[in-house]
Amino acid sequence: MSPFTVRLNFHGDLIFFLGSRKPGQKIERNLGEKSSVKDVIESCGVPHSEIDLILVDRQPVGFGEGLGKEAQIDVYPAPRPGTKFEKNRLQATRYERFIVDGHLGKLARNLRLLGFDVGYDRHAPDRELLQIMVREKRALLTRDRRLLMHSVVRHGYFPRSQNADEQTIEVIRRFDLLGLIDPFTRCIRCNAPLKKVAKGDVIEKLEPLTKIYYEEFRRCTGCGQIYWAGSHFSKLQKRLEQIRAHCS
Ligand SMILES: [Zn+2]
Repeated sequence: MSPFTVRLNFHGDLIFFLGSRKPGQKIERNLGEKSSVKDVIESCGVPHSEIDLILVDRQPVGFGEGLGKEAQIDVYPAPRPGTKFEKNRLQATRYERFIVDGHLGKLARNLRLLGFDVGYDRHAPDRELLQIMVREKRALLTRDRRLLMHSVVRHGYFPRSQNADEQTIEVIRRFDLLGLIDPFTRCIRCNAPLKKVAKGDVIEKLEPLTKIYYEEFRRCTGCGQIYWAGSHFSKLQKRLEQIRAHCS
């Protein structure tokens, strides 16, 4: 096969992954053999989990499409509602279950606080993260591009911000979660659902002042941790309101 050149045009916020390149600047790749469009796109630094639509010479294609001759490739980010290529979209708009990489503990905590089902183990190696992701059908949240580029990743997201609250807002927007927020229904420590319990059932485990000032309690159905609207509650509530306000 004689060498050929493909030209890639990355649209929207995919520019984030292209380092110092400017919006509208095309990238050329010289290829000596037939290559999948996924591999060529990822060689530019953009994980496939960020891509909702690929056009090769204006025709929509999937990630496995082979490139064997000169082509113009347009790459669009997710989410991309209202496109005329609705049937050719490569990402789910909404996804409700996540696995979070060990470096994003605060994001995992925030999402659990909002009621979302989040797998998180600070010490889990990458291989285990991917296994859990596949087995439990979770979307992968990580700032490790190479991990997102792994072929078993179906749904995933690379938080742009390094700030956990901003990351939380990004994830809510990306996966259309605003209407599903249900705060204080899930354990921050172990991810199991919380259940309301009568004060009498937990009173022996409470500190003296907690016994006096609080009436409503929830207990984790997994680890048994008891939750109440304690001193940190209003702070969290305020943060949640800020997150909601940013997302709408
Ligand atoms: Zn728990």
